[in-house]
Amino acid sequence: TLLVTGASGQLGRAVINHLLEAQKIAPASIIATTRNPENLADLAARGIAVRAADFDDTASLEEAFTGADRVLVISTGELDLKSDRRLKQHQAAVAAAKAAGVAHLLYTSMPNPEPGSPVLFAGDHYGTEQAIKASGIPYTIFRNGWYQENLFMSLPHAISSGKWYTSAADGRVAHSARDDMAAAIAAGLASGSKESHIYTLTGPQAYTTNEIAALVSEVTGKPLEVIQLPDETLTEGVKAAGVPEDFARIIVSFDVNTRAGRIGEVTDAVERLSGRKPRTLKQFLEANKTALL
Ligand code: NDP
Repeated sequence: TLLVTGASGQLGRAVINHLLEAQKIAPASIIATTRNPENLADLAARGIAVRAADFDDTASLEEAFTGADRVLVISTGELDLKSDRRLKQHQAAVAAAKAAGVAHLLYTSMPNPEPGSPVLFAGDHYGTEQAIKASGIPYTIFRNGWYQENLFMSLPHAISSGKWYTSAADGRVAHSARDDMAAAIAAGLASGSKESHIYTLTGPQAYTTNEIAALVSEVTGKPLEVIQLPDETLTEGVKAAGVPEDFARIIVSFDVNTRAGRIGEVTDAVERLSGRKPRTLKQFLEANKTALL
């Protein structure tokens, strides 16, 4: 039996879709967990076992994981720089998997999460990876690169103003379609592989901010100027646009990470695992042109 946490989230839903459609896993062999089972009534109607589990409640996780052979822990989505709640949530999931006798643990991490990462929440992922390795459970860690979909956070404003503020300099990002990563993760979950693996999942090509802006201009027909700022100035600008302080700091930490060359690696893991060609950045921009304008 294959279990997916965070199944009501965008990545979780996509993983389950690929388990059913591409991997041909029977619904009766899938367990989906969420804090709010009513949100997954559609999956229950298809014959998937929907169980309640809250990452803040270890006992609920252990009960939910009981009977599952392979468990995919999708990292939780609430970032809080003032506490280690997210790391604690993930550690609770690892402990629950151990207690429930899970045979293989899969986790969605990030590229280069080691100490020294400028990304302000990298410690959550690194700490979780360490907890997984310490548990002794065979594992598959997917170090997911940044979603192409994250560009919805910055591009609409940049396109409308014609100015894209950044501190990423000439650093590159190999954005990947969320759905491509989901396809690769579903393949890893369904594979039955018993060895431990770490895969870095990325898009097919890495681009500088200038190169992305040029692609955006080409696709939308709108001029887009990239303006490099010092980190502090960028943080103040993001805050002035109404973004809460901690989230502004997180956003700028992505640029610092990009500038340091820590998110520019390109791998073929998505295609190797899923067997399908990953969506290019240009295809993403073309498919979402109206939403971005
Ligand atoms: P979503 O926000 O759509 O989903 C997040 C999931 O986290 C939800 O399904 C939610 O489950 C679950 N969750 C949060 N808190 C708890 C909790 N206390 N107990 C149980 N579940 C919890 O994010 P995506 O699906 O798009 O992305 C998946 C994860 O990937 C994110 O959570 C985040 O860690 C990371 N991420 C990665 C990005 C990247 O670019 N690589 C970008 C954005 C996020 P439910 O509400 O059903 O309980």
